[in-house]
Amino acid sequence: MVCYVDSHCHLDLYPDMMAAINQAEGARIYTLAVTTTPKAWPRNRDLTQHCKYVRAALGLHPQLVAERHGELSLWEKYLPEARYIGEVGLDAGPHFYRSFDLQQQVFVRILKMCAEVGGKILTVHSTRAVKSVLDSIEEHLPRDRGRVILHWFTGNMDEAKRALSLGCYFSISSKMMKSNPARALVAKLPLGRLLTETDGPFTTIDGRPTHPEDAKLAVDAIAIARRADPTAIAEAVLANLTILTNWPD
Ligand code: MN
Repeated sequence: MVCYVDSHCHLDLYPDMMAAINQAEGARIYTLAVTTTPKAWPRNRDLTQHCKYVRAALGLHPQLVAERHGELSLWEKYLPEARYIGEVGLDAGPHFYRSFDLQQQVFVRILKMCAEVGGKILTVHSTRAVKSVLDSIEEHLPRDRGRVILHWFTGNMDEAKRALSLGCYFSISSKMMKSNPARALVAKLPLGRLLTETDGPFTTIDGRPTHPEDAKLAVDAIAIARRADPTAIAEAVLANLTILTNWPD
């Protein structure tokens, strides 16, 4: 049986988080439950601690840094408990550009702390800020001190090559694959660095929020772009997750 991977889903933002967790578990989707604020960590940690397929990640979303940068100390407090980190990163889009300096300070601090502790896996947001994100990773998180999954990457091929050389993985959603440049990029990326995601519930399909089972649609879109067999893509994605995280173990 093929198992799918959703390496970036906000399970705590569905109306019923426990139902969302149970749905992912029941469907056997390896799911990384990202959070947007460290205040959400204890609940995410507790509700996922006995899960086979769902893991929680400790985040501080760049779009919330303007109001919540004071929670960085809380993020640091929980860091020793968390193997997975995210959602973190930078957003230089029109609504968030004003906090960009502050976002960079927070992101650099997060990378430095992760490098110091070691062994963390980060899911990183880089909207309109690919170069800055890669600059910060290159400077502050050596690949033997932590690994990065670039969530919804929108950079060009040169930036992708740079990210590959830094050891980054690319997490692909079916929504992302609606864009021609993204399809062209994903056709060329090494299969060994691809993961899949939904970014649910922020993305929708046919007017409903996506959920982890929709990771299959990302696999199908990758298979079409690469003229490959979907089962082979699904197996490769799961193998990539295993290599990156030792999960499933
Ligand atoms: Mn997200």
